[in-house]
Amino acid sequence: SLSDRLTATFKNLRGKGRLTEADVDATVREIRRALLDADVAVPVVREFTGRVRERALGAEVSAALNPGQQIVKIVNEELVEILGGETRRIRLAKTGPTIIMLAGLQGAGKTTLAGKLSRYLKAQGHSPMLVACDLQRPNAVTQLQVVGQRAGVPVFAPHPGATSTELDHPAGDPVAVARAGVEEARRTLHDVVIVDTAGRTGVDAEMMEQARQIRRAIVPNEVLFVVDAMIGQDAVNTAMAFDEGVNFTGIVLSKLDGDARGGAALSVSSVTGKPVMFASTGEGLDDFELFHPDRMASRILDLGDVLTLIEQAEKSWDKDEAARMAKKFADQEDFTLDDFLAQMQQIRNMGSMKKMLMMMPGAQNIRQQLEQFDEREIDRVEAIVRSMTPHERVAPKIINGSRRARIARGSGVHVSEVNGLLERFAQAQKMMKKMAAGGGMPGMPGMPG
Ligand code: GDP
Ligand code: MG
Repeated sequence: SLSDRLTATFKNLRGKGRLTEADVDATVREIRRALLDADVAVPVVREFTGRVRERALGAEVSAALNPGQQIVKIVNEELVEILGGETRRIRLAKTGPTIIMLAGLQGAGKTTLAGKLSRYLKAQGHSPMLVACDLQRPNAVTQLQVVGQRAGVPVFAPHPGATSTELDHPAGDPVAVARAGVEEARRTLHDVVIVDTAGRTGVDAEMMEQARQIRRAIVPNEVLFVVDAMIGQDAVNTAMAFDEGVNFTGIVLSKLDGDARGGAALSVSSVTGKPVMFASTGEGLDDFELFHPDRMASRILDLGDVLTLIEQAEKSWDKDEAARMAKKFADQEDFTLDDFLAQMQQIRNMGSMKKMLMMMPGAQNIRQQLEQFDEREIDRVEAIVRSMTPHERVAPKIINGSRRARIARGSGVHVSEVNGLLERFAQAQKMMKKMAAGGGMPGMPGMPG
């Protein structure tokens, strides 16, 4: 995986403290391979890696990250930016119904999405209505009616045998149906109208003209381009055609439940500059989620949640504390219970320990042990150390039986827990001395379990 390959690349980079051209090129090569593996379109990969390379070469050196991590961070930022930055929500109309039009190739997942989207909006207190404008395929209207029934929302559709002169339910003419559907929603006080449209297996001038006319007729608040995540290299041409044809406002990535790593998301948003808003992850009504650019970035790069760890390492990196500890080791001073507590607090600053461990690649295998890890342990350690006098903290040897009893009372724990902590501290102290002698970086001694 990319994680493994980057780890190998980073090994050579570690500790150099500066991004050289060779370092950057080695990492960018791995990123390029990962993007191509994820089926990101070739021209998009080329442009993207070019920009990353430029930024990496000009980057300030970070204190918290090694050069390899720094490049990954840049890559991630660029990916998130292209995918739309923050998750974008549906823009609601200020007055009258919010009109959402769906566009995309046949089989992309528009009709399925209509159901998911209406279920989602209904759960948020809206009252959606569906409009069946796919009059191309014989069963398309029935399919939407089934979808609407499942989602519990009404479907506006031309009834069989009706003609386009019956304005009420104009059959045959999708533009008239769209217009009448929106009118019907307005009259019946539905606050959202979702307009399903026809697609073709390939981009087709007639279909695009029809979609364009529907758009012009109903003036939607959102035009969502639904694209199959498995589409791969074709994504760019399809997206450009639809963007030119209907000038869509957002992207929905469907069939993300398959093997696709989602490279299409990057290709489509990169060439159109439009944000991905939703992801469809199955055939069921509830297989639907808001699209999170940051999560998608790590899926595309197949990095586990290494990126989240990088972010947390940066956030909680306490330079002063690190410098103080380094000096302490250099001076061969004793490691005290205060230092022990300070380390515990640093761990806490890094956020929930368990959550962090869960995010590590391979965490699935040790999930059960992690579930059992008791975070309150850190609270207890803190309470115990706080119940000691300053002198006890620097000279724990003086903590005799009566002192132990007092500390236990003060911190509300059993004496055996005070004993356990002092034992763990003694081990940690020994380890710190060894590391100081060996010149290594301090780890996290004293962690329970
Ligand atoms: P449309 O032609 O764009 O309206 O596409 P449909 O909504 O009819 O979907 C085409 C096929 O893809 C149907 O068999 C759907 O059940 C299936 N489908 C749609 N969305 C998803 C998805 O997110 N995951 C999976 N696995 N199948 C999907
Ligand atoms: Mg359809």
